[in-house]
Amino acid sequence: MTKNIFLSSVIKKVEKAGKKLKISQEKIELFKQPKRFLNFQIIFTRDNGKKEIVQGFRCQHNNILGPFKGGIRFHPNVSEEEVKALALLMTLKCSLVNLPYGGAKGGVIVDPKKLSKRELEELSREYVREIYQFIGEDIDIPAPDVNTNPQIMAWMVDEYSKLVGKFSPGAFTGKPEELRGLKGRVEATGYGGVVILEKLKEKYGLIPEKTTIAIQGFGNVGFHFAKFAYEKGYKIVALSEVDGGIYLKEGLEPEKVLQCKMQKGTIAGCYCKGSVCDWKGGRDISNKQLLELNVDVLVPAAVENVITKENASKIKAKYIIAMANGPITQEAQEILEKKGKVIVPDILANAGGVIASYFEWRQAKEGRLWAREETYKELENILTSAFDKVFNYAKKKRISLDESAFQLAIQRIFEASKYLIN
Ligand code: NAD
Repeated sequence: MTKNIFLSSVIKKVEKAGKKLKISQEKIELFKQPKRFLNFQIIFTRDNGKKEIVQGFRCQHNNILGPFKGGIRFHPNVSEEEVKALALLMTLKCSLVNLPYGGAKGGVIVDPKKLSKRELEELSREYVREIYQFIGEDIDIPAPDVNTNPQIMAWMVDEYSKLVGKFSPGAFTGKPEELRGLKGRVEATGYGGVVILEKLKEKYGLIPEKTTIAIQGFGNVGFHFAKFAYEKGYKIVALSEVDGGIYLKEGLEPEKVLQCKMQKGTIAGCYCKGSVCDWKGGRDISNKQLLELNVDVLVPAAVENVITKENASKIKAKYIIAMANGPITQEAQEILEKKGKVIVPDILANAGGVIASYFEWRQAKEGRLWAREETYKELENILTSAFDKVFNYAKKKRISLDESAFQLAIQRIFEASKYLIN
């Protein structure tokens, strides 16, 4: 039993699905282990001339279905176990949405907010120098994750291209649109989340104007989810960042909140609706309060382990769309399911990002540039059919959406692996 609650939650779900599918324990044990784990020091120079050493990781979990694929996270809380859990989830996610990829993840234990732009560039390029021999467009294709973005991907793909001696746009996804990135990749994860929200509307009869939503995390995923949901008429009543959040009963306007946050440097007090950003009824709330609000839909879109056995019974939302990876621990999941909550698991809800990354990778291979509308349409097709598959299987087997997604993902991998491993 592993000490890390995130990794152990993912592993428990894999073991449970394996048992249901009657896959031997031996095979599940093998599947749980990453194929390769790189653990290395990155040395870079601070602006004061001093050298700094930080720890970097790249976990290549499984490549039965295709090259390893997964983002790179820069965060002070990154750990070996977290990277392993995220890589395993990537394997399952790519399998579930039928992509020709395996799973991987990378990370660096660092707070990028404390680095200058030059320091961040050096760190990003050094990260690539440590792993370039193990990645490539048909081997392992990194992408952005928490605290990494198209600018960082631009530095990384440039460094990789120099090291291997050829222009290699297919080796990284999430690049800037101007630099062979995909139109629509930046917003794809949030957009995909709203495709899922619309499926919930269809299946459970939600009425957008009457459906209240609270979103934890106002970064790439949280902001775009809020924006697209708002455009579809849903009522976004609460938003939060690491240092706290805001609540407005009348419903917030995400684009305005973002502008306000940029001006003030914090989301606090940004009670924006229409052109007004100081609605009297607005109030500041904590991240803990946001999770326990009396709303219809809760969207954890920040970090893992935010819904645990300690607060699960206080969650009032009927629907939870897990946009972050691993926001609900296994114990909390069981408590919530007993209470009849409808939970869309991370490997389905946030798959829009890797689906768009797949289009970007194809764009590099085919040499044809995709239009934004094409990205949205194809992404919607893939996610809609994945949702229907998960929903129908759950209904047929009388299991939760979470169990259904895990079983379907594992099934596809083991169907393929039986031709390779007896
Ligand atoms: P981001 O760095 O753009 O934003 C992260 C947000 O979370 C910020 O608003 C930050 O203030 C907030 N946050 C950080 N720590 C927090 C805490 N302890 N409590 C509450 N809020 C906190 O990251 P992102 O790309 O939006 O990723 C968010 C989640 O979505 C992660 O779990 C990531 O793995 C997952 N995800 C991202 C993508 C993608 O394409 N970016 C794809 C799939 C999954």
